[in-house]
Amino acid sequence: MARFIFITGGVVSSLGKGLASAALGSLLQARGYTVRLRKLDPYLNVDPGTMSPFEHGEVFVTDDGAETDLDLGHYERFTGVAARMTDSISSGRVYSTVLEKERRGDYLGKTIQVIPHVTNEIKDFISIGEDEVDFMLCEIGGTVGDIEGLPFFEAIRQFSQDKPRGQCIFMHLTLLPYLAASGELKTKPTQHSVKELRSIGIAPDVLVCRSEHPIPEREREKIGLFCNVRKDAVIAAYDLKSIYEAPLAYHAQGLDQAVLDAFGIAPAPAPNLTVWHDVADRIHNPEGEVRVAIVGKYTQLEDAYKSIAEALTHGGMANRVKVRIDWVDAELFDREDAAPYLEGFHAILVPGGFGERGTEGKIKAAQFAREKGVPYLGICLGMQMAVIEAARNVAGLTTAGSEEFDHEAGVKRFEPVVYHLKEWVQGNKTVARKSSDAKGGTMRLGAYNATLREGSKVAEIYGTTAIEERHRHRYEVDTKYREQLEATGLCFTGMSPDGKLPEIVEWKDHPWFIGVQFHPELKSKPFAPHPLFADFIRAAVENSRLV
Ligand code: GLN
Repeated sequence: MARFIFITGGVVSSLGKGLASAALGSLLQARGYTVRLRKLDPYLNVDPGTMSPFEHGEVFVTDDGAETDLDLGHYERFTGVAARMTDSISSGRVYSTVLEKERRGDYLGKTIQVIPHVTNEIKDFISIGEDEVDFMLCEIGGTVGDIEGLPFFEAIRQFSQDKPRGQCIFMHLTLLPYLAASGELKTKPTQHSVKELRSIGIAPDVLVCRSEHPIPEREREKIGLFCNVRKDAVIAAYDLKSIYEAPLAYHAQGLDQAVLDAFGIAPAPAPNLTVWHDVADRIHNPEGEVRVAIVGKYTQLEDAYKSIAEALTHGGMANRVKVRIDWVDAELFDREDAAPYLEGFHAILVPGGFGERGTEGKIKAAQFAREKGVPYLGICLGMQMAVIEAARNVAGLTTAGSEEFDHEAGVKRFEPVVYHLKEWVQGNKTVARKSSDAKGGTMRLGAYNATLREGSKVAEIYGTTAIEERHRHRYEVDTKYREQLEATGLCFTGMSPDGKLPEIVEWKDHPWFIGVQFHPELKSKPFAPHPLFADFIRAAVENSRLV
């Protein structure tokens, strides 16, 4: 049965709880343990699928088709363990399950209350698959003291009581602010945060303290004393140049040792950190730099494209170069020439997105890359835009567009080269939706297989003709136009196994121009860069030598 580590945060939000959890997961793996990471989010949305990327960052999609918090992306990137639908839950999901049960009469007429009905639902969630791993790491979103977080804190408190002694520990992240005037690190907010936690019955076993300045030994002792945590379990977390230094940095501060000590595991198995040393070496010692433009819509918040930025970094690591990313707002050249915005980049990436805004700019970016021979990677909407560009400017279908934009505008303006898919095959079953199913949970979501054309560039890059990648979209390129487009040189080199849905397009006589209907970035890891990103950056390096 798994041991449980509950990770909470205090003082301020955005302390890097997700990263600390992911790094701890990887350190436990380095000591030979199996792990699974989970996120419990107090917000009331049922899932982040309908939340704006501006507000909440990217939606991370799992193989089994769940739309989850971007922290699950960190978990996967650090542990290589594929997240599942059952690794992410929100208050909204908990309440909707409880209310469904109430309507069905499952509670046999009882009064439904936060304790025990909501907390039981949370506890059931936490224990799903508990026999499968050595450690289950559960991160609670938000900070201690938030009203909406209370049922989660109560549930994990109860959970630790339900389990045999020594099977659950609590790790709490806080901030030590620095007062420049007096040159001091202040521990009071941490003391208050732990006090808050203890007032709801949770005593932390490990404290992780974020600080911009070195934490003197006597301060660590003081924190330990005032917060009732062993001195060795007060762990310093300093700012890092790269998130991929986190496993080594946390190890150096003794985090994994403190966690194993808290469980009473002695002697602790020695860690093997070779992978992370290699990752750090590739990050710290690049042999060059390439510049990549991401032409998107949500460029003000980098978290909106978190996995893409990380996958590009991984691609750089595979080629031992630093990837400098410039965020270019597609709307800037919706109406004007794209060249002044895109000249000087070694490669161009157009990411996924929803809605019409900025799409004319993205089409121009695809045209620029095609005409100038600049490596282009189009992801999801980025592939659809590349196809529309080819249809309009090469195949002569001047009114080509996507049904998505006509639906949005409520007028028919475009020839639907990209259309709204109503029925498709997943594994051995057919999935159908009505045209009114516009939002929330009606997308082609999760892992789907694709078959690659023998001899194509993508088959060579993947080293196979059978792949599986994650999807999140409603619209598809229409195969009706396939012949016409292939005649111009835009080849449909990846298709769904039934041959109905285009998965990959590539320009035949171009150094590197690939569009994919899926999201390869979701599966890339620092220690296993995704082949498409590794090769895209290789092409960017090659291009950088030409310009
Ligand atoms: N809006 C497009 C669709 O739904 C693309 C989605 C995406 O890029 N993730 O098909």
